[in-house]
Amino acid sequence: WKNAPPSLRALADHARGHGERLVTIYEDERISYDAWYRAVARLAAELQHCGIDKGDRVALAMRNLPEWPVAFFAATAIGAICVPLNAWWTGQELAFGLADSGAKVLICDAERWERIAPHQAECPDIETVFVARSDSEDQTARKLESVIGSPREWAGLPDAVIPEVSISPDDPATIFYTSGTTGKPKGALGSHRNLTTNIFSSAYAAARNLLRRGDPIPAPAPKVGLTVIPLFHVTACSAGLMGQLYAGHTIIYMHRWEAVEAFQIIEREKVNITGGVPTIAWQMIEHPEREKYDLSSLEAIAYGGAPAAPELVRKIYETFGSMPGNGWGMTETMATLTVHSAEDYLNRPQSAGPPVPVSDVKVTDDQGNTLPAGQVGNLYARGPQVVIGYWGQPEATAATFADGWVDTGDLARLDEEGFCYIVDRAKDMVIRGGENIYSSEVENVLYDHPAVTDVAVLGIPHRTLGEEPAAMVHLAPGMKVSEEELKQWVADRLAKFKVPVRIIFSAETLPRNANGKILKKDLKAGFEQD
Ligand code: ATP
Ligand code: MG
Repeated sequence: WKNAPPSLRALADHARGHGERLVTIYEDERISYDAWYRAVARLAAELQHCGIDKGDRVALAMRNLPEWPVAFFAATAIGAICVPLNAWWTGQELAFGLADSGAKVLICDAERWERIAPHQAECPDIETVFVARSDSEDQTARKLESVIGSPREWAGLPDAVIPEVSISPDDPATIFYTSGTTGKPKGALGSHRNLTTNIFSSAYAAARNLLRRGDPIPAPAPKVGLTVIPLFHVTACSAGLMGQLYAGHTIIYMHRWEAVEAFQIIEREKVNITGGVPTIAWQMIEHPEREKYDLSSLEAIAYGGAPAAPELVRKIYETFGSMPGNGWGMTETMATLTVHSAEDYLNRPQSAGPPVPVSDVKVTDDQGNTLPAGQVGNLYARGPQVVIGYWGQPEATAATFADGWVDTGDLARLDEEGFCYIVDRAKDMVIRGGENIYSSEVENVLYDHPAVTDVAVLGIPHRTLGEEPAAMVHLAPGMKVSEEELKQWVADRLAKFKVPVRIIFSAETLPRNANGKILKKDLKAGFEQD
């Protein structure tokens, strides 16, 4: 255990202290802390054999499988930089991630390998490929099972010995790519300290949640968590995984999100914590078969990563009797920087919470002057979770990070008590003839309409005004409402210049990327055609 680097200590401590506890459940595979740690150590030694040194990149491209965290921790255990790639990406996009990070080793699942294999010429740095759960006899890749065996065999692996590499908390550990909501994804280079700060943020959020419910000071009782969002995003990996491991939780993985399957797992395994992104919570609430299942074990449904309609907060509380939680963060802050939960959240459903005590935020005007409470401006954040910079992009790094602060690209205001309200992304704000319209303000009013279940507001070009607001909405099944009625609904509640000039009805829920964010860039193109 003694060689465990900072990112691995929580797992190592639990593997030593109560190794028989379940760390993860995936379908019918039940894996103990001890077995998981053995697999991590075995793979770490193999990566060293492959010539991986401190600072080398090891890419990871797979859906949620128990092998994902094993590969993640094995790479960081020997000082390599783990590069989780978006499993939704095409072969070409995956090849971009491999080439951009200069990864020497790729660990992937069979489906990702099928996509990447035709693009091998585009990523010449790759020397070794390990494929998990593959039946193929492809000679260019090695089977991950040939190194660590199948998950059922991990308990029988030799005693875990992590290779000795000197790693300090400020050494780089990860490159996570941003979601690419506003442009090409950028690799955010994070340290072991950035990653482990999430342990603190999660403990803090959990303690506040329990205390606000009036429970006694929480004993660190291990819980069962259900991870339904992809591990390649910081929300699931650095916040979820790191945050749950420290507490010795059992973490159940779903290969891909499906509401009924999630209900079945929650009932069977008595899941206490789930969530991820706001859309997941909505789909659980609105699902017609929800009441068939016993979901009473749920204690908290927490999410972040995308704006959550204020209405969602009370709905969670009323539907599940469990506590809603929200957190704001970005890839550049390795997930959580503000947390919001329990009564604070119920009382301030528009807010994303105050910053965790090791971090702070400020709101400035365009000249960099700090604005007083209540005024909307550019949000900056600082703290031990702010990453080192963008991988291989000195100019973007200089433009975004300065003096420990990260320019978040978000517009926000703070209230007198320091609660943070995310108002919009600067890039999504619609400027109509000089008047600022925050898309989320109009979206929240439309969300409040009983017929509307999904909405995006965005700017469409106008010859003299520059931009005008338009909306795309998706209605609840069986509900009907006209464009004129919806415009009137907004006009009754907001200033006239904020009323969308055009509202398009979408038969489907709106397109989102893997991290639950509406693809406004694509919707804009659709509006322009319309
Ligand atoms: P890119 O930077 O590549 O355009 P992205 O910003 O969507 O993509 P992420 O780092 O995954 O990539 O997302 C961070 C952004 O998500 C924040 O800047 C913010 O706009 C939004 N966000 C995160 N959490 C919340 C939250 N709780 N409420 C509202 N918005 C949030
Ligand atoms: Mg961003």
